[in-house]
Amino acid sequence: MSEIQIGGLVSFTTIDYPGKLAAVLFLVGCPLRCAYCSNPHLLNVGAGEYDPERVFQWLQSRRGKLEAVVFSGGEALMQGDAVIDYMRRVRDLGFAIGLHTNGFYPNLLARAADVVDWIGLDYKATRDKYQSLTGQAIAYDNMQKSLDIWLATGHDLEVRITCDPRFIEKSDLKKIADDLHNRGVKKIAIQKYIPHFEDAAHATTPDARDAFFTDDALRTQINSLFDSVIWRD
Ligand code: SF4
Repeated sequence: MSEIQIGGLVSFTTIDYPGKLAAVLFLVGCPLRCAYCSNPHLLNVGAGEYDPERVFQWLQSRRGKLEAVVFSGGEALMQGDAVIDYMRRVRDLGFAIGLHTNGFYPNLLARAADVVDWIGLDYKATRDKYQSLTGQAIAYDNMQKSLDIWLATGHDLEVRITCDPRFIEKSDLKKIADDLHNRGVKKIAIQKYIPHFEDAAHATTPDARDAFFTDDALRTQINSLFDSVIWRD
């Protein structure tokens, strides 16, 4: 087994895996370059700071205390079968496995489906704005394939939409919600955009960032389409 590269670790969280106490491993490398990325130090492929075997030993010591381990990034699936093998070892310890993913690797997601119990999938914008947001022409289509693959497994998922007003309007949010509803998605999360590295020429305003969350009619419309809508504002 080749080694995975772990660039960060959260030892305890109640918000990264629904209903379970979890640890989060942040894997190094991402094929996208989102304008709003809050983890730019994890984007380039390279050596991770954390020894995966020591992390594994630490996870062994957390049995009975934690319930789940979430693989995040960067994009964890960029590390291919090495990360799937590592997930399997962690699952054999008795943990549920979660994956935060941008959906860029549908074939790997299909291969990971027997070891991953839950995913949080990013649906970042409508198709016409995906490339300018992510820097990747095929990111939207790959995300859509990943969504189809995961829905076919019947496993649990949450689709996340981050409302960066530079790339998404209220009408776009409604279009995305309609698409997800029509495809049978039951749980979504709508996340407020928090500026980390905005340049002054393209700065957003608090009002523009809040607009998705203060429109009661929009909220009611979207809430009616799903079993669960989490508004993370
Ligand atoms: S997919 Fe996530 S980690 Fe990758 S560039 Fe976008 S925001 Fe950053």
